[in-house]
Amino acid sequence: MIAIPRQKPVFRFAPSPNGPLHLGHALSAFLNRDMADAVDGRFLLRIEDIDLTRCTPEFEASIYTDLRWLGIDWEEPVRRQSEHFDAYQASLADLIDRGLAYPAFLTRGEVKARVAASEGSGSAWPRDPDGSPLYPTDDRDRPLAERQAMLSSGLKHAWRLDMAKALELVGEPLSWQETGDGDRGVIAADPSSWGDVVLSRSDAPSSYHLSVVVDDALQGVTHVVRGLDLFHATSVHRVLQTLLDLPAPTYHHHRLVTDAAGRKLSKSSGDTGLSDLRARGVPAHDIRHLVGL
Ligand code: GLU
Repeated sequence: MIAIPRQKPVFRFAPSPNGPLHLGHALSAFLNRDMADAVDGRFLLRIEDIDLTRCTPEFEASIYTDLRWLGIDWEEPVRRQSEHFDAYQASLADLIDRGLAYPAFLTRGEVKARVAASEGSGSAWPRDPDGSPLYPTDDRDRPLAERQAMLSSGLKHAWRLDMAKALELVGEPLSWQETGDGDRGVIAADPSSWGDVVLSRSDAPSSYHLSVVVDDALQGVTHVVRGLDLFHATSVHRVLQTLLDLPAPTYHHHRLVTDAAGRKLSKSSGDTGLSDLRARGVPAHDIRHLVGL
């Protein structure tokens, strides 16, 4: 009989080096490592450093130090997103060529003013699941000639997904397989609640949504284990995966570690930072208990 090699399940922990890791990251890293080990899978570390203004080599170095301290090891080489902008640009170019992305010229300030004016006159502005205002439709509806003229004049712009057009092309409801701590089973995606999501910015050649789906596919990730704060973002990821013909991993969105007041930890929550805990003499083996494992 011919032995067919079984593809191993692939997990990844994908922190952004824009601040120190805290207990929430430790939970995510432990869960990824444990779940990979339980199924004889692979565990990858990916550095999500597309935001060149906020990510630093120092924070990246502290990610390695913190994970080693926790006793978590990973496969080398580590994929650093800032070294792969060409891959994200190729996917963006594909979406642009197919008329699924448009140049977005409104500045953050202009969008803010538009929202404030609307809300000031009593009409609520639609917001995405994270609470950010949806992008106005001006640029999407701009006549082609005007769009071309604005591009040719060198105006700064982002690229956004034309969500309505994308969903029309997809043509069927999207869903994902979820095994996490919130709703489970087959989850119906709701991408239109996000509006025309950003795919690249004038100062960043890729967005989180675009680079995460491209990398998960390129790295053969089969299981995405991450915090429940990214549960709804999965709707966007399913659209992009479908448009770009990428496979859909299984998703596991885990509970978030909160502070004493019940708030989600942030990178500035000093007392729950892993390096602070280490400096205060907390032994590494206590961290598992501190995150409820
Ligand atoms: N880089 C993201 C973060 O640090 C995680 C992205 C993901 O796991 O999909 O929050």
